[in-house]
Amino acid sequence: MADPTGFLKYEREEPKKKSKEERLATWGEVYADVDPAERNGQVRKQASRCMDCGIPFCHSGGSGCPLGNLIPEWNDLVRRGDWAAASDRLHATNNFPEFTGKLCPAPCEAGCVLSISPASGGPVSIKRVEQTIADQSWEAGYVQPQVSEVSSGRRVAVVGSGPAGLAAAQQLTRAGHEVTVFERDDRLGGLLRYGIPEFKMEKKVLDRRLAQLRKEGTRFVTGCEVGVDLTVEDLRAQYDAVVLAVGALRGRDDTTTPGRELAGVHLAMEHLVPANKFVEGDGPPSVDAKGKHVVIIGGGDTGADSYGTATRQGALSVTQLDQYPMPPSTRDDERSPWPTWPYILRTYPAHEEAGERKFAVAVKRFVGDGNGRVKAVELQQVKVQKDPATGRREVIPVNDEIETLPADLVLLAIGFEGVEEMPLLSELGLSLTRRGTLSCGADWQTETPGVFVCGDAHRGASLVVWAIAEGRSVAHSVDAFLTGASDLPAPVHPT
Ligand code: SF4
Repeated sequence: MADPTGFLKYEREEPKKKSKEERLATWGEVYADVDPAERNGQVRKQASRCMDCGIPFCHSGGSGCPLGNLIPEWNDLVRRGDWAAASDRLHATNNFPEFTGKLCPAPCEAGCVLSISPASGGPVSIKRVEQTIADQSWEAGYVQPQVSEVSSGRRVAVVGSGPAGLAAAQQLTRAGHEVTVFERDDRLGGLLRYGIPEFKMEKKVLDRRLAQLRKEGTRFVTGCEVGVDLTVEDLRAQYDAVVLAVGALRGRDDTTTPGRELAGVHLAMEHLVPANKFVEGDGPPSVDAKGKHVVIIGGGDTGADSYGTATRQGALSVTQLDQYPMPPSTRDDERSPWPTWPYILRTYPAHEEAGERKFAVAVKRFVGDGNGRVKAVELQQVKVQKDPATGRREVIPVNDEIETLPADLVLLAIGFEGVEEMPLLSELGLSLTRRGTLSCGADWQTETPGVFVCGDAHRGASLVVWAIAEGRSVAHSVDAFLTGASDLPAPVHPT
């Protein structure tokens, strides 16, 4: 039973971050190392703010947790200091709570009833509680390999080792199937490895989960592009089911702005991936912000990752551009009715460190230096509206004024358009939808029998929590496909 007045006793508190200087001196995570006992004491107070609502919107309804995380339950266990039970309840619905604790923008907090009014002091710090349960679980040894006691004798190939593929692989391995994960890159983790910078989630966090999966029996093959290094014929002959968790990494490009062809104008991932490989110990990045004026186009997560990376690489300046006006920064702003997320200004730690954000602007032209390299961008104030005739989004200049920013490196972080071209898909007889994703039936099975899809490849680029939820759900369907029925959970269904 929760403390119904906890939110009146304790203010919402954010976790402490390292100083700006400390952060920029390394690639490590931005949050300060806190003594575990002190940390746990603080988080018990934060968990005490949960009211154990009759209808907990944090994990039900449209804005709650896709995994169905048992948030009020583990909030109360943390309040009482029962970390072992809290770990058990958290892992009951989430294979990788440390990934979501560090990376998820927490739709659960937007759904929290305490978001309703500023007088309530803001939502329960659900993300912080989750992260602390995960940390405590590893520190106290609650996280152990769960080796299946049964063997189905059936073999499953999972293509892609991002969060969706790993969640599917872990669930299916624990259900007794022989699972092999194929990864085309040289290291495992997909976007978690080469898309997410170290300052958001250190790779040792990923590696310890991979070690757990290995001990449970999941096999991994790196540097293998299925459809190229392993033929689809061999794949189908060797495996009883195939799960495609290949992501949606086809970056949206700017095909209309004059000067796009100039050297120094890149998709954001062309900068992020080599930067993250460098942090892993590979050679210097092919696209480096050091000593450059960097302009990032796009106001989302990828743009923020580019922002923090460019700052740490030693950029002379970093400017992030957003076509939309600056949203309200507080939830008591009248323009920001509950639920607030994502309608309030999302400020990432990277934005506190250096640089500048500009809102309601768009690039009119990339300006070259006469030798084929970008040297500046020309900006215009714009507004975004719907074309009344077609309903399509359009970006309209609001005046003729032009602002020129120096730019030696321009990064396009304007979204993703779906699954990349790959021989695997055509060899499996699969085609992409108009959204660039792979469609499936109610059981996550594509039009090719025995081939399933989950995560961004099905949903389009989305949150890590959705990837894990779809990975768990596809595992249920694959298990049922192989054995006739499944006890595995299926928290979400194909849309
Ligand atoms: Fe607790 Fe907020 Fe969920 Fe209510 S909505 S149960 S206060 S976390």
